[in-house]
Amino acid sequence: MSIKESRPHRADQNTVQRRPRLIVRPKRYEDVAAILAKPKSFPSPVRAVGADYSQTRCATSDAGTSMHTGALDRILEFESASVRVQAGVTMGTLVRTLAERGLELPLTPEIGNMTVGAAAVSTLPQSSYQDGLAQIASCVTELRLITPQGRQITVTERDRELMRVLRSSHGLLGVVHEVVLRVQTMRAVKIDYRAYSLAEFAARFRRIVGAPGALRFHVAPFSDRVTVERRVPDEEEAVTRSGIWQIRNSVMRNVLPAFGTSVGAVLATPGLRSAVLTGVHRALNATQGRGERGVVLHAHEWMRDLPAEAWKARHTYSLWAFPQGNFPEVLASYAAFSRAYYKQYRYRCNLVTTASRLHRDRSALFSPSYGGEMVTLEPSSPGEQGFEDFLIDFNDFASAQGGVPTFNQTRALTREHVAKAFGERARLFSALRRRTDPLNRLRNSYFAQILD
Ligand SMILES: Cc1cc2nc3c(=O)[nH]c(=O)nc-3n(C[C@H](O)[C@H](O)[C@H](O)COP(=O)(O)OP(=O)(O)OC[C@H]3O[C@@H](n4cnc5c(N)ncnc54)[C@H](O)[C@@H]3O)c2cc1C
Repeated sequence: MSIKESRPHRADQNTVQRRPRLIVRPKRYEDVAAILAKPKSFPSPVRAVGADYSQTRCATSDAGTSMHTGALDRILEFESASVRVQAGVTMGTLVRTLAERGLELPLTPEIGNMTVGAAAVSTLPQSSYQDGLAQIASCVTELRLITPQGRQITVTERDRELMRVLRSSHGLLGVVHEVVLRVQTMRAVKIDYRAYSLAEFAARFRRIVGAPGALRFHVAPFSDRVTVERRVPDEEEAVTRSGIWQIRNSVMRNVLPAFGTSVGAVLATPGLRSAVLTGVHRALNATQGRGERGVVLHAHEWMRDLPAEAWKARHTYSLWAFPQGNFPEVLASYAAFSRAYYKQYRYRCNLVTTASRLHRDRSALFSPSYGGEMVTLEPSSPGEQGFEDFLIDFNDFASAQGGVPTFNQTRALTREHVAKAFGERARLFSALRRRTDPLNRLRNSYFAQILD
């Protein structure tokens, strides 16, 4: 049976959270079922917790039961095109283990801490190469989960509609204990960088998004600069067994400042933590030449781990997605908004705002690119004062611009933002949630506020 503990006191830096009455750490899926089936011993709400790195209170269990999945940590089976994994395995462990076998996920995030169970049911958009694959959950082909009543069920891609709902269910429809993900043969990726002014970027935008490859933009509104990062599979680079572990340290070191302008990279890289806007930009500019020549990497080489204490890294960025068609206009408005905000409140985000281009992806009900191609905007900060207030105004700006938020990465979200962005999809999901979990075994106050 699972280990029970009382909750150690932990003050969160930015958000007041109630402490759960219980923390449980199931070791087998039968433990998950037993916990969910006994509300008297394990008070509601029961919230599954992976690495606990989300930017919102989505995983908090109020005064209920916090179910940490870290002990479900086995990679169960490798096939040529898929891998079966327990929910508590971290993405970092999975990606590195796949690389040893010459395999990779179709999408590899830059941060390794998140667990597979969380990634399977929450919204983790990634800069994408093709339609239908713009978030990690879209790589999931099978889920085994325990329902709010403690029953185990298996859902596969054959049940398309249920799979679509589960892929962004955030632990509200069941606790996942096993996941099958699609994998592919590892391929080398060529990454290059090109810098533009905002006006140049807008003028070339159609050509930039029309060319093949996964795109990230590093936006510095106060320096009038957008650096375009393009990742294209490099067919010429032969991937041999012996070549797999030739991690290109020198390349990573040389390009890291240009490659790592996201808050995740700053927090994971000792010495960069205190970087402020100008410092990051000096580094970005200094490595621009090398970046333009391009470097070749394998996906596992760009992954890094954040500090183990999740609270240090939480609350450091927020994410909205905007229709690709008018992204240059959104970006110009964002720059104007940032400047006006600074003028009035003397606050500006001191890290580059990153952005990812997302292909259309309807694999999950709350996919940010459900309605078509989108580009995210992710204002970041290492957590200094003023950021939280900035995000409240930024949210209203983003919502007015037709932005789509996420439940796990968009800070300070309101019910109105959710209703405007998701409309009928939010109503459908809430109705389904109420039917499958009438006693609110899995629902916390965060989701009660924004969804129900
Ligand atoms: C500084 C920073 C930078 C980041 N950069 C990136 C990035 O570039 N790209 C990227 O993709 N991500 C990034 N992330 C990661 C991302 O925000 C979180 O890690 C992610 O939300 C979820 O992973 P988690 O394991 O921490 O989930 P948690 O926060 O523990 O949980 C997320 C949600 O999933 C539910 N859940 C968890 N496990 C289960 C389960 N077994 N069954 C059912 N429901 C479950 C929870 O209840 C919750 O609703 C970054 C995070 C930080 C802090």
